[in-house]
Amino acid sequence: MKSCQKTLATVAVHAGSRISASVTRPKVSPIYASSVFSFDRLDQIDEVYEGRNPGYVYSRMRNPGVDALEEAVASLEGGSSAVAFASGMAAISASIMANVKAGDHVLAADVLYGGTHTLIKEELPRRGVSTALVDVNDIGAVKARVKPNTAIIFCETISNPTMQVADLKALADIAHEAGSLLVVDNTFASPILCQPLSYGADIVVHSGTKYLNGHSDVMSGLAVVKAQSGDKIRSYGVTYGATLSPFDAWLLLRGIRTLSLRMERQSENAMRLARFLESHPKVTVVHYPGLPSSRFHALALEYLTGGFGGMLSFEVKGGLNGAKSFIDALDMVELVPSLAGVSTTVSHPGKTSHRAIPLVEREPLGVGDGLIRVSVGIEGYKEILDDFRRALEAV
Ligand SMILES: *Cc1c(COP(=O)(O)O)cnc(C)c1O
Repeated sequence: MKSCQKTLATVAVHAGSRISASVTRPKVSPIYASSVFSFDRLDQIDEVYEGRNPGYVYSRMRNPGVDALEEAVASLEGGSSAVAFASGMAAISASIMANVKAGDHVLAADVLYGGTHTLIKEELPRRGVSTALVDVNDIGAVKARVKPNTAIIFCETISNPTMQVADLKALADIAHEAGSLLVVDNTFASPILCQPLSYGADIVVHSGTKYLNGHSDVMSGLAVVKAQSGDKIRSYGVTYGATLSPFDAWLLLRGIRTLSLRMERQSENAMRLARFLESHPKVTVVHYPGLPSSRFHALALEYLTGGFGGMLSFEVKGGLNGAKSFIDALDMVELVPSLAGVSTTVSHPGKTSHRAIPLVEREPLGVGDGLIRVSVGIEGYKEILDDFRRALEAV
């Protein structure tokens, strides 16, 4: 064995590990599956940590592929920067927790995603933050419930499952008058329909798992800040470790490339389906902000400038039995307790997101046992319509 020859153990560890210089560059941002980054000189550590030289240290803090995703989402939302997280709930909890301290108060919409509801009702009070829920469509009530120590007002652009649209400008005014932040969950709308920062929101959060990704194959979340630094939110994420993996960041960015096309088609299909359902004798109510009959149509015209979205819900006659007959009779359309994929799916809020709430309490909120939520996909409208028409005959 020649002395210059390396042992296979060393070859196995080091061969091919240097990234070669190239005059060309990858067409798309690659997956940087590296937990850590190498330095040539000790001085570079100071330079990178102090921001004097661009560079990465450790992927829980930053990763080039995740940075690319953050830049894309910040641009889509018109924000100054974004922070990516391992799930929507991680983005929501970081955005709230990083901006409150014990003794503060958080005022949130009374119709919220289930996980956010638990965070507001259980986690925040355990940390000494008092909370209250309010109908954010009752602006007078919101004003009355704001306190001197209110740090955050939280709402969703379009809320689940009855598709209420929030009056973002009015809420931002109330928040800012009180010296608090307006945090908006823009998951259902996506930045294609609405950019809440442009109406005065301070932070926008997303479950990237839904429309941003759009293919039902990634868990992820994002927080986008308007002007203030996102450092507090990033630092919370780095400390609590809710980091998005480079693989998921790559898939999410790939999904985002078709976001606008998907939203356009989903909005178009949803509008047609909402009209069909509204005229169907077995359907009693349709919730879709694009319908002129919707209580939220005026707000939708003001805020959902890029389309009315792919989410709708409706009530069938016959309560739970009616809903069962309809759902079980569906063929192409699947029963899926999530949303925003490319295929049309239905869910039953009473059995999923709202199952912890007794029927007597949720019925007045419009979440009776006959309520079915639809996430409209990008299929040809004819096939969607055929499946709905046939399944409604079974009711
Ligand atoms: C799904 C969802 C969340 C939570 O996101 P995860 O990615 O599941 O953690 C938050 N808000 C809304 C509106 C959602 O639909």
